[in-house]
Amino acid sequence: MKYHSFLIKYGEIGIKGKNRFLFEDALAKQVRIAMKKVEGDFSVTKENGRLYVECLSEYDEEEAINALKKVFGIAWICPVVRVEDCGFERLQEDVVRVFGEMYPDRRLTFKVESKRARKDYPVCSQDMNREFGAALLDAYPETRVDVHKPDVMVYVEVRERFINIYSKEIRGALGMPLGTAGKAMLLLSGGIDSPVAGYMIAKRGVYIDAVYFHAPPYTSERAKQKVVDLARIISAYTGPIHLHVINFTDIQMTIYEKCPHDELTIIMRRYMMIIAERLAKAAECIGLITGESIGQVASQTMQSLLATNAVATLPVYRPLIAFDKLDIVRISEEIGTYETSIEPYEDCCTIFVAKHPVTKPKLEDIEESEKALSDVIDGLIDEAIASDQVILCMDKRLKKAEK
Ligand code: ATP
Ligand code: MG
Repeated sequence: MKYHSFLIKYGEIGIKGKNRFLFEDALAKQVRIAMKKVEGDFSVTKENGRLYVECLSEYDEEEAINALKKVFGIAWICPVVRVEDCGFERLQEDVVRVFGEMYPDRRLTFKVESKRARKDYPVCSQDMNREFGAALLDAYPETRVDVHKPDVMVYVEVRERFINIYSKEIRGALGMPLGTAGKAMLLLSGGIDSPVAGYMIAKRGVYIDAVYFHAPPYTSERAKQKVVDLARIISAYTGPIHLHVINFTDIQMTIYEKCPHDELTIIMRRYMMIIAERLAKAAECIGLITGESIGQVASQTMQSLLATNAVATLPVYRPLIAFDKLDIVRISEEIGTYETSIEPYEDCCTIFVAKHPVTKPKLEDIEESEKALSDVIDGLIDEAIASDQVILCMDKRLKKAEK
């Protein structure tokens, strides 16, 4: 079956009132970018409040659908067969042929839904429904009509210049198109949670950049590469990510030397937040994102989150805050980060963890402990920021397309 185009149906954008066109334009832009990754020629057109991807050359259907499935803002992807208006009888034959080719196994129930965008078409929608239904039953006696809960829908739409026939509706990524919100800085470690958190916030239309705190020689080049790999995997959804790699070793060592060991992780987290926020502001990000979830570990109890949050002035988005680990794992499997996240490379936090970290830190105690750092910490933060290495993580096929 060769489809001539894909009809893109959107969900939440549909309810955006006067600003709707801004969201549609952003979606069209993201769909164009997604189709650059697919072998072949495509054009993306907006038509009467709908978006179409026209296929102008040979292409691989699965590849095209997979690319579209990664675009936030799409509710359904419908592969469409487009025919010319050559009279009603001919259309009826086309509907029967397309249905037959689309469903080799026809033990199913269906419902026809026809529409005419031009009222001068000689057959009204209700008559079309009836006639196409009868023709399908006639051609394929193993099928049945079910108007309440059909296995498949058959859509026939008479448009201005052509007629669309389609039936399959493939679930899109949902959410809002990238570029319709702002930009946020993701604190990206090599774990399971933070890539999922970045994906979830990007799904609300937010562009993301990321920061990774690296502690050589305690954490290896391989651990850093794992974070680059994760950023690249999620960039298929989020668009290109500028990943900032910050050398965190001196700060970590100094905290280790001067502060109580049971407070190490919390104090480290606070400095990560402070640095992430400085980078965020320089990159025009208006929020931070972490993969924290209440109670997952000692540094994520509500008391620990209070202490970590206290240093931030930007909003901190924690989309996983109420998620069960199993649900987070499920999403990471779906978006393709899980296998990389579980590669066994050490993380800067696991090297310096205390045997018995505080689980209910008091903010005053943490602030008191940090006084031991006061002589050196500003210089160390500046040095850490000066160590910033920026790696652009994006789909290789996009890089090729841009050349
Ligand atoms: P993850 O799976 O995301 O690593 P985690 O369950 O291991 O999370 P923690 O290690 O407590 O949890 O980290 C909590 C959050 O702090 C992470 O989700 C991430 O946003 C941030 N974070 C932790 N370590 C780093 C790091 N080395 N670089 C950047 N961000 C980090
Ligand atoms: Mg971690």
